[in-house]
Amino acid sequence: MRKPFIAGNWKMHKTIPEAVDFARRLVNDCTGLTGRRVVIAPPFTALQSVAEVLKGSGIHLAAQNLHDKPAGAYTGEVSARMLADAGCEYAIIGHSERRTHFGEKDDVINNKLKTAISFGLRPIFCIGETLDEREEGRTFSVIDRQVKEGLNNFNTDDIQPVVIAYEPVWAIGTGRTATPEQAQEVHGYIRDLMGKKYGENISGVCTILYGGSVNPDNISGLMTQPDIDGALVGGASLDIESFIRIIKY
Ligand code: PEP
Repeated sequence: MRKPFIAGNWKMHKTIPEAVDFARRLVNDCTGLTGRRVVIAPPFTALQSVAEVLKGSGIHLAAQNLHDKPAGAYTGEVSARMLADAGCEYAIIGHSERRTHFGEKDDVINNKLKTAISFGLRPIFCIGETLDEREEGRTFSVIDRQVKEGLNNFNTDDIQPVVIAYEPVWAIGTGRTATPEQAQEVHGYIRDLMGKKYGENISGVCTILYGGSVNPDNISGLMTQPDIDGALVGGASLDIESFIRIIKY
C-alpha cells in the first residue's frame, strides 16, 4: 500500500525565521497525521533550524540538491554527508531547474543519486519532458532515457529508497498543470518501466509523485489516478494554508 506523499520544494525562498515559523505551523497542523507522508525541502541555510522544529513530528526534511562527490575541494557545494548530518532524510535530485540552469546531465544525476543513497538519503528523482519534446511526440523516449541513464547500474537493492517525481517541464511554475489523465498516462508508463527493469515487487511499491503547478484545487483530481502517489509542490508549498490544504486534500 503506497501512502500519499506530499513534498514541498521551497526553491530559493524563505529566511531562517520564515522557515522556522512555517515549520512550527506545519507541525501544529500535521503532527499525528498518519495517512500522509509529508516532506519539506527548505533552502540549505534553514535546514538545521527546521530539523529542530520537525523533531518527533513525523514530518520529514529534504535537501533540494547535493554534490555528487562525497567531499573535497568544491567551493560553494554541499555534500550528502553534511545534509544527513543537518537532519535530512530525503534529497531532491535532477530537478528540471538544475538540469536547465546548472547544466546537470543524466550521468551527473546518476552519480548524485548513488551518493545520496550511500549516505542514507532517499532521493526524490525528478524526470520530465519539455514542451517541445511533448509536442514532437518524444515524451516516452525522454522518460526512457532519463530513467535508464539516471538509474544506470542500480540493482533492486539500490532502487528501494528512490522516489520518482514526474514533473513535465512545461507545467513547472507555469500555472499550466497536466490533466490527471495526461499525468496518469506517464505515471503508468514509468511504473511499467520500473516493473520491466526491477520486477513487479518494486514497481508495486515504488512511489511516483506528480509535480507541476499542483495547488489546493487540482490535487484531489490528480490523486484519484491509480499511479499517482502524491505531489512535489513548488509555488503552492510556500504558503502554509495552501500547503496544508494540499496535504489534507
Ligand atoms: C517544482 O518546483 O518541483 C514544482 C513542481 O513547482 P510548481 O509547483 O511551482 O510548478
